[in-house]
Amino acid sequence: MDIKEWLSNRTRGGVHAPHRKNTAQCETVIMPPPERIILAMTQHIGAPCTPVVKVGDTVEVGQVVADSDKPVSAPIHSGVSGKVVSMTELLLPGGMKTAAMVIESDGEQRIHPSVKPPVVENYDDFIKAVRASGLVGLGGAGFPAHIKLHPRSLDDIDTVIVNAAECEPYITSDYRECIENSWDIISGVQTVMEFLDTARVIIAVERNKPAAIAELSNIAAGVSKSGREVIVKSLPARYPQGAEKVLIKACTGRRVPTGKLPSDVGCLVMNVASIAFISRYLKTGMPLVDKRITVDGSAIARPKNIRVIIGTPIKDVISFCGGTKFKTRKLLMGGPMMGLALMDDELPILKQNNAILAFAEEDVRLTEPSTCIRCGRCVDSCPMNLVPPWIAAAYQNGDAAAMEKLGVMTCMECGCCSFSCPASRQIVQTMRMAKGEVRKAHTPKTAEKEPAKEKTAVNK
Ligand code: SF4
Ligand code: SF4
Repeated sequence: MDIKEWLSNRTRGGVHAPHRKNTAQCETVIMPPPERIILAMTQHIGAPCTPVVKVGDTVEVGQVVADSDKPVSAPIHSGVSGKVVSMTELLLPGGMKTAAMVIESDGEQRIHPSVKPPVVENYDDFIKAVRASGLVGLGGAGFPAHIKLHPRSLDDIDTVIVNAAECEPYITSDYRECIENSWDIISGVQTVMEFLDTARVIIAVERNKPAAIAELSNIAAGVSKSGREVIVKSLPARYPQGAEKVLIKACTGRRVPTGKLPSDVGCLVMNVASIAFISRYLKTGMPLVDKRITVDGSAIARPKNIRVIIGTPIKDVISFCGGTKFKTRKLLMGGPMMGLALMDDELPILKQNNAILAFAEEDVRLTEPSTCIRCGRCVDSCPMNLVPPWIAAAYQNGDAAAMEKLGVMTCMECGCCSFSCPASRQIVQTMRMAKGEVRKAHTPKTAEKEPAKEKTAVNK
């Protein structure tokens, strides 16, 4: 068997990263509204929104303040009542610049009259309601939910997978959703089953969350009926179990081919918090204005799970968690494997954030990379069956065609390769740069954009 055959037949990959779920038992605390929120106009994959209110306007909780007429987008709502005081620009952690709206809270939290349960009688109403709710994938991807729930071939979808794996170390926000809002999850599952006419829903949870498995299994047992079933599936606690393609393989045995979507193999994957949100939105009509996040890391004085208004500055979030007990050496939006490093704490919470982690100096290991010893651990751990050293060599040679042929565009930047590398090589960074080279090779010369300028997190 040659290496290509071996790689394509392989079913594993992934790593055993330490779980460090320190906040698993921390019941969610509601953070009071901040003095001001900063709403980025890009909080999802797709077209950015443009403001539908202007500086000086008064806004209320749940009011649409920005929207887009492009199909792949989602409206943005205010989480506070108050006044729009300015428009600004943010540099998001991924390097993208975006416009942002600053709203000063009046502390009254008046609810906008548009906030009422939507009338949903059929599938089209359901999709419209999900769009109006502003929901994007809450597990970190930020893909507009109404697009996900409206696949090209809806009739071919036979399985909806509810992603409650939460495989990233430290993060426990989805776990708390399972424990605190299990009825919302099951109600959301029933809604999706009804409107998508799906025969099977699998709620996927890693084995290291037995309380969540027990809680959901108890309720799900009463839901399966008349040819429809809701299964709570316990999966090995192995990072990146929650990655879409890995999850589909683990739950159904189906492999999503390169360049194809989950819907091409009859699956639709939704984050567990997104499913629960749909249920609440249909009951209350309150759009996505807040969310649960985990705040943890060695520098945080009092780690917590909190429900926070979207747009709250991260420094306010950290301050609500007792501030820092050590100097923060690394601040992350998201988990330690796939999270993005922040240059400062001025940026706001985005819809798709599920964690803020702050680490002290002693926890930020900066080992100098050494020469590749060709041990193959990165290959063994790659869930996408890539061979990172080959891609790295193609990158060194500036050979974009070879990088593409070696499948670099399927790299999901999970970090398993870097995590397992004994030579501390910066493999993920190389993968990111290699992907950039492939994109550049496909961009017509005249359409090339100027590179984003660095190091201006918030221009007030
Ligand atoms: S970051 Fe990319 S190359 Fe590395 S293990 Fe993950 S998918 Fe594979
Ligand atoms: S894990 Fe590191 S040292 Fe081993 S082959 Fe991959 S890049 Fe080289």
